[in-house]
Amino acid sequence: MFSKRRNSIFGTVAFRLTLWYAVLLAVLSLTVFVLVYIRLTYTLGHRLDEVLLSSVKEFEELYDEQSIDGLKDEFQREAASGGAKRVFFQMFSPDLKLLATSDMSKWKGIGKPLSVLEDLPNNKELFQTISVPGRKYNSRVIYKKITDGSIIEVGHTLKDNSILMERYRETFGWGFLVILALGSIVGWLLANRAMSGVKRVTQTAVRIGRGDLTHRVPVGQEGLEIHNLALAFNEMLERIQSLVTELKEVTNNVAHDLRSPITRIRGIAETTLTGQQKLDAYQQMSSSVIEECDRLVGIINTMLDIAETQSGVANFTTTQVDIAGLIREAYELFQPVAEDKGVILECNIPANSLFVLGDIGRLQRVMANLLDNAINYTDSGGRVVIYVEGTQTQVKISVEDNGIGIDEEDLHQIFERFYRAEKSRSSHRNGLGLSLAHAIIHAHEGEITVESSPGKGSTFTIILPL
Ligand code: ADP
Repeated sequence: MFSKRRNSIFGTVAFRLTLWYAVLLAVLSLTVFVLVYIRLTYTLGHRLDEVLLSSVKEFEELYDEQSIDGLKDEFQREAASGGAKRVFFQMFSPDLKLLATSDMSKWKGIGKPLSVLEDLPNNKELFQTISVPGRKYNSRVIYKKITDGSIIEVGHTLKDNSILMERYRETFGWGFLVILALGSIVGWLLANRAMSGVKRVTQTAVRIGRGDLTHRVPVGQEGLEIHNLALAFNEMLERIQSLVTELKEVTNNVAHDLRSPITRIRGIAETTLTGQQKLDAYQQMSSSVIEECDRLVGIINTMLDIAETQSGVANFTTTQVDIAGLIREAYELFQPVAEDKGVILECNIPANSLFVLGDIGRLQRVMANLLDNAINYTDSGGRVVIYVEGTQTQVKISVEDNGIGIDEEDLHQIFERFYRAEKSRSSHRNGLGLSLAHAIIHAHEGEITVESSPGKGSTFTIILPL
């Protein structure tokens, strides 16, 4: 019925978060690497091209000033200072005959300029990246066709740039591994820390599953979501615990309240059986048994009524009910009861009708319960007053008595099923009346409250929407 709890680390949210984090980190670092790589390659290449261009211009000016002899010397000098392995300079006539050159001993594989140069217009330059046979790194060359059609060629090895880029790739490679490893560790720690609240909730749920309802999730510092989860979980536990306690109490009360009449029925039957067994004894037994059975059926019916009303499945016959008229009738009905007890029953009801949408039978039951209680818990000579007040939107009904009142500690429980304050324990009443009234008023979207002070009296107030 329940799926098994899985323990594999790969299925954990922490692992998945770490994986996402690592992948994101890898993608971001690679993007940064590629962007920097492109930018660096471009900048280095561009800078070298500028150097080549400026040196070709210098040679051109020198050629104009000192003709080919000056250039030959300059080629030697420049190659010596720049390094014969790194740079070379050549000059060709318009028909590509070599006129001057620097030390080409390290550039043996280099051929003559390409024939495309013949089509190159005067005063224009052409850049090329070439691979020189016998050399590991490529080289960059510039050809410039000067005014008289001769061509100046300047070449520079790309070794420095290539080594720089290699170092960059290498450094990035190691950096990437370190970032990934550190990132994964940090991600794993963070995810575990964030998830520790969820683990606590799980542990608590497991303990509760084993029957320990008193346990609560400790509220930590992992963040608002976990904080709220722990609070919501604890609130739910609080509610479950109070429901379980209530259920236990109700079960106890039901057992107790059903046991007493059943024991009484048994007692009556037993006494009759062991007695003289005359007809009138049997008749009396039958009538007592019927009375007790009616009481039992009454309790069971009221319990069902409360349950149905609370769960919203009760069959309500909703009509427009004149609440003022209904209360007046209840007042008249209870007048003789009050008189019998020596209690003065008064009412203060407006003459006009006040209409409420509701179930007349159930609203009558609520009023009967409140009046019955008020008269019952008021000693002879006391007073019970009913007030009804209507506003534009609601009607307020109060039943005020100056009876025994209710203790502070009982006050918040009197609307619970079977709850009876200690003082009323001995009576034959069952503690379901107010619980039913509460359920009915709530089903009518109203409210029922109580104010009471022991020895002074109680006031029950109902507010119903008009
Ligand atoms: P019961 O059948 O015992 O009257 P209720 O649910 O009607 O059951 O009332 C629950 C308890 O609330 C009573 O047992 C009594 O202790 C207390 N109570 C109700 N109404 C009054 C009242 N008007 N004055 C004093 N106590 C009251």
